[in-house]
Amino acid sequence: MRQLARIVLTAGLAGAISAAFAQTADQPVTTFPYTPGLDVNAMDRSADPCVDFYQFACGGWMKNNPIPADQARWSVYGKLTQDNQRYLWGILDGLATKTEGRSVTQQKTGDYFAACMDEKAIEARGAAPLQAYFEQIDAMRSVRDLPAVLARLHLALADEGLFFSFGSSQDFGNSTQVIAFANGGGLGLPDRDSYLKTDAKSVEIRNKYVAHIGNTFILLGQSKAEAQRSAATVMRLETALAKATLSRVDKRDPYKLYHKMNARGLQALTPGFDWNAYLAALGESGLNTFNVTEPKFYRELGRQWAGRDLAIIKTYLRWHVTRASAPALSSNFDKEHFDFFSRTLRGVKEQKPRWKRCVTLVDAQLGEALGQEFVSRAFSPALKEKALHMTKQVEEAMQKDIDSLDWMSKATKERAQEKLKTIVNKIGYPDQWRDYSSYDVKRDDFIGNVERGNLFEARRQLAKIGKPLDRKEWGMTPPTVNAYYNPQMNDINFPAGVLQPPLYDDKMDDAPNYGNTGGTIGHELTHAFDDEGRQFDAQGNLKDWWTKKDAKAFTERAQCIVDQYAKYVVVDDIKINSKLTLGEDVADLGGLILGWMAWQTQMASMPQQAAGPRDGLTPEQRFFVGNAQWACENDRPENLRVSAMTDPHSPGKYRVNGLVVNMPQFEKAFACKPGQPMVAPKRCRVW
Ligand SMILES: [Zn+2]
Repeated sequence: MRQLARIVLTAGLAGAISAAFAQTADQPVTTFPYTPGLDVNAMDRSADPCVDFYQFACGGWMKNNPIPADQARWSVYGKLTQDNQRYLWGILDGLATKTEGRSVTQQKTGDYFAACMDEKAIEARGAAPLQAYFEQIDAMRSVRDLPAVLARLHLALADEGLFFSFGSSQDFGNSTQVIAFANGGGLGLPDRDSYLKTDAKSVEIRNKYVAHIGNTFILLGQSKAEAQRSAATVMRLETALAKATLSRVDKRDPYKLYHKMNARGLQALTPGFDWNAYLAALGESGLNTFNVTEPKFYRELGRQWAGRDLAIIKTYLRWHVTRASAPALSSNFDKEHFDFFSRTLRGVKEQKPRWKRCVTLVDAQLGEALGQEFVSRAFSPALKEKALHMTKQVEEAMQKDIDSLDWMSKATKERAQEKLKTIVNKIGYPDQWRDYSSYDVKRDDFIGNVERGNLFEARRQLAKIGKPLDRKEWGMTPPTVNAYYNPQMNDINFPAGVLQPPLYDDKMDDAPNYGNTGGTIGHELTHAFDDEGRQFDAQGNLKDWWTKKDAKAFTERAQCIVDQYAKYVVVDDIKINSKLTLGEDVADLGGLILGWMAWQTQMASMPQQAAGPRDGLTPEQRFFVGNAQWACENDRPENLRVSAMTDPHSPGKYRVNGLVVNMPQFEKAFACKPGQPMVAPKRCRVW
């Protein structure tokens, strides 16, 4: 993945009326604002590229692009995401206002947006949407009633904070089969380490979290003393679950997440919790194959459910139902939620304007309906063809690269080539659009739309169990400014949203385009062979296809990257957790090398392109500046602290400087000298 995915549905929601007024200059657009693929104004030519290349390529950008008040961080990707959203706003505004002549999917997206924008109606309902959930929780007479209630809450809220999350995924051992997955979850803070770290800042955040839970219970009508007790109860339970949760580094090891068992095995983990009742309420009776990603976590859940008073479980459920719903409730709940999760935790100053939150929600719940509108206006067949051409060149580069490796045996090379040949390229948008006909969208029922959208998606995921795998499915929507590799599908995916200027710029020369988009394609391709991806074979099965000697040689090379990034500081005294970022760091370096190789091929066929300097930069320099300029960013210290725990990507500065120090081509392009900061004394190279 090129950037951190934020797929939590409610994270984008929430909105105070004042914020909407503060942004009256905001307007929807019908054409894209153009930013060139290599932006000389984004550079800082006073910086020495051999001392700090990131400053040289991005210094101007950082200076000219302060973080907007409604953002936790700001970046080239973030800015393009906002441009896309503004464009989608124009589309949705049209579909919401002009109601005649709309297709069925246009009706759904237009009415969803209209309902979401109706803040008056949302304000008038207050906390009323919680009542139906609370009635179910209150009606529980014993822990025996928990499974059915929990299943209904899981379907309606699609939130992993409710003890655990349950869904479907490909079987790690047999990628053609989709089986049920019982995953971890149950926490409100961003990571299990948020509960376990003992430094002063972490303790302060925990205290503020407990205060926030208390404030939420006060909004629900509890007295201050009651609310404090409720908050302490929630925190104790979550801390116990956090202690039983795997670390993010451990979760990068697929073997640690693969525990296939039958219904009896699952039942044995949590003796007091009737899984038959849970599955029946989910509409999935009779399932007998499960992957329990974290058995230790489920054993702890079993202990909590058996040993706790029912009142504690009810308090915990009320909290998480409210937390998950808060951004869709009236402004008092929304504001309290924003104050902790955005302001305190991420340093965000202001709530996002309503339109932005609503565009994000339409994209989350009706993404392929909205995506059709986006693609028909903003993604031409010619652009798709060009992206495919570049992808094939990058794949050919990888083929040559594998052949040339001196540390890999012939046997492993053959397997690697087989895997590379099998990778499916998905560009722009899916061949077949999702069918939303069973999702009922009403123009006057915002929260009902959200709930029915969650239900639609949960049922869609569960319906895959036991059915033939749909290899055409996409995991991102077309307007998304991001890309991914899926090791079980063995496919690389580039949504239309990521193939726009300044990332891919049709008007630019090849050098920056191969540096930027070529680098992204190479990045995703390298994920197939990073420390995680390399454990899956050509068919997407978790199966070791490496000789012992080659695996050892890979690990040694990867360790060079781990040691390199471990020295970089994220914020204050916090350094990169380079075991967490290893896969992304390996993919970044591989991507740049493959982008370079593909560009060499391209230049050989079009030598006139490489001729002379432009903007005072040689073609080679333009390649590197083009590459760096995808990663320009500004970040808030609060957000950096969270990212250091949760984000598998290194900060932008090191996604640039950490690569070029390893590239002899860079040293040559900028005539850097050994001993300068951008020339590593000992270079790392994996692929
Ligand atoms: Zn990645």
